[in-house]
Amino acid sequence: MPAIKFDPSVCQACETVDCLMKCQYISFGSINDAKTEKLKINNGEHSRVLEECLTCYACQEYCPNSNNPFFLLVERQEERGFLPAPKPILEEQLRMMQPKGKLTAAKVKHPVVNMCAFPMLSGCVRGSLFDGASVISGNDLFCNIMWLHFAKNTTIRERVPHSINNIMNLYLRNSEIDEMVCFHDECFGTYTSVADAYGIKVPFKPIHLFDYINRRLDSLSDRIKPINAVIAYQRPCSNRLCPETDKILDGIFDKIGARRVPRKYDRGHALCCGGVPRAQQRDELADELLEKNIEDMKSVGAAFCVFNCPFCMATMAQEVAENGIMPILVSDLVVTALGE
Ligand code: SF4
Ligand code: SF4
Repeated sequence: MPAIKFDPSVCQACETVDCLMKCQYISFGSINDAKTEKLKINNGEHSRVLEECLTCYACQEYCPNSNNPFFLLVERQEERGFLPAPKPILEEQLRMMQPKGKLTAAKVKHPVVNMCAFPMLSGCVRGSLFDGASVISGNDLFCNIMWLHFAKNTTIRERVPHSINNIMNLYLRNSEIDEMVCFHDECFGTYTSVADAYGIKVPFKPIHLFDYINRRLDSLSDRIKPINAVIAYQRPCSNRLCPETDKILDGIFDKIGARRVPRKYDRGHALCCGGVPRAQQRDELADELLEKNIEDMKSVGAAFCVFNCPFCMATMAQEVAENGIMPILVSDLVVTALGE
């Protein structure tokens, strides 16, 4: 497998070191300090960033030169044996999420919606929004992006091509379909950003859920009953790999009358849901992030906390609801606006 795509000379010439200076979880005394750490990472030397990183993905978005700082960081963590989560947790997850070899080939119809390793969420693909959709899911289609949180680029390299082959051989090729809607940012990020940086070929066109919904709403515009409410959006880590889709989400919210008012921890400053530090057994940090985030949502009068990531939702839903804010997935909010 090829090395992670990055150009050390671009970092050498970089004057802002945005990848580290904008990090919300690690502080640097100066740009020079951040640059010293970044060059150590690039050179395969020890850097404190390898140990302190929360694995929030954000530096991937912060780099103005698309130089893949986070993917490289994960590579160096793995090379030097820094495990963000305890080894027993990693090993359990590797076993749990491994391919099962249980899927059988089936004909599918457009639109094909990939629910990845979350078949339990297949019920979300409902109503006129997903009219006629074929749903595919299972561990054998798992996008495997989660290993970025566990310093396991090798698992991404081993398992992603396997999932791509299954998607093609079990479903798309025989059905003469060449595109697939990714219900989760994780899958879209894998088949676009990760695949490009890791040199993995993707023979189908990944469609982001927001892109699909936004276009579908144009056909269903006469049925929309505006939500007319302030919402807080919990932007997930994997959306850092496809920031262009955040504007498409704004278009969806506008169409359904959901007001994403400015708040501190949204967009570029989105906070981790707390699930990752919880898995890393950094409970105090997880509690602190949750509290700051929910206080911020309350301060803007949010009626809904809107999620696109099922893991964020599972992590935050109870506390969000206990604070009087309704947790809901983007797709369910849209289905509600369609009166279904
Ligand atoms: S990764 Fe990007 S932001 Fe960071 S030093 Fe390199 S070019 Fe600059
Ligand atoms: S992944 Fe997040 S926590 Fe880690 S260095 Fe990048 S911005 Fe900082």
